[in-house]
Amino acid sequence: MDIALLKALSEADAIAASEQEVRQILLREAAAFGKEVQFDGLGSVLIRLNESAGPKVMVCAHMDEVGFMVRSISREGAIDVIPIGNVRMTARELQLVRITTRTGHKIQGLLDGERHGSDVTKLRVDIGACSADEVAEAGVEPGDRVTFATSFTELPHNRVMGKAFDDRLGCYLLLSLLRELHATPLNAEVWLVASSSEEVGLRGGQTATRKVNPDLALVLDTACWAKNFDYGSDNHRQTGEGPMLVMYDKTLIAPPKLSAWVEETAARHAIALQRDMFSNGGTDGGAVHLSGTGIPTVVLGPPTRHGHCAASIADVGDIDLTHQLLVALLHDVNAKTVSHLTDFRC
Ligand SMILES: [Zn+2]
Repeated sequence: MDIALLKALSEADAIAASEQEVRQILLREAAAFGKEVQFDGLGSVLIRLNESAGPKVMVCAHMDEVGFMVRSISREGAIDVIPIGNVRMTARELQLVRITTRTGHKIQGLLDGERHGSDVTKLRVDIGACSADEVAEAGVEPGDRVTFATSFTELPHNRVMGKAFDDRLGCYLLLSLLRELHATPLNAEVWLVASSSEEVGLRGGQTATRKVNPDLALVLDTACWAKNFDYGSDNHRQTGEGPMLVMYDKTLIAPPKLSAWVEETAARHAIALQRDMFSNGGTDGGAVHLSGTGIPTVVLGPPTRHGHCAASIADVGDIDLTHQLLVALLHDVNAKTVSHLTDFRC
């Protein structure tokens, strides 16, 4: 596990459509291994892992995190912002955030809003300014990007805490696959895809899939359970219990043959899976599987505690096991796997 890489990915600031800080990390790694890189028109990064005459497999994770954008600046020096993505309501009050200006300058501030029942509206960042002029002199302008200002931290028991784990854990896994498999012969052509703008409606997932045109897609994402210390049988996102295999969400139902292949591969490598279902929301998988005439797609990933807020907690073992499972799947996949998945007579 490369904790420094995970820290760099977590602390990179990247809301939808402004993912340059994450993109740079991915491009640096791709260049280090001499890999071909392409982009879709939205800025998703497509890294070709290998060349093969076999089927095309896309492994996809989104680069963007939930955050805010500067909307307007008041005469009194308050910086009004709008959420970009579904920031949890409780994370809209009294949070440390940082603004990235157009020149890349970082300014810390305190985010607060007005609570009306369970809703928090009229979000404002306070950078200590007492006038619009002071805000302008600091270089802040409408359209600037705002993210949580959480430092990445290692916790006891091989756990980590940081912002943007949704979905920088997925981006980390793309790079850990690149590092492990960069020179390995495989029976499939693998594309590692870091998608743009998932949190605002699965946008890069659509466009990148059209560009790659894969025969099979593995989408990496994370999710948290509403009750963090619930270890009951209905919590399939428990810390330290292994990767989640998402059987259902509102945008995608995992094809039974595909989830069976993942389960069998996991079992062969003694990797325990948590079979999860999302009652709310979806992932890039929802967009990916509807591309072209339809693509067999499954969603996997390490679970987290606390989502869409200032910090999440994850277990390093869960991340490592997800990596091992992905390596096993990519070693296993070949033309027969894909023809079996797309033969609906059996
Ligand atoms: Zn996500």
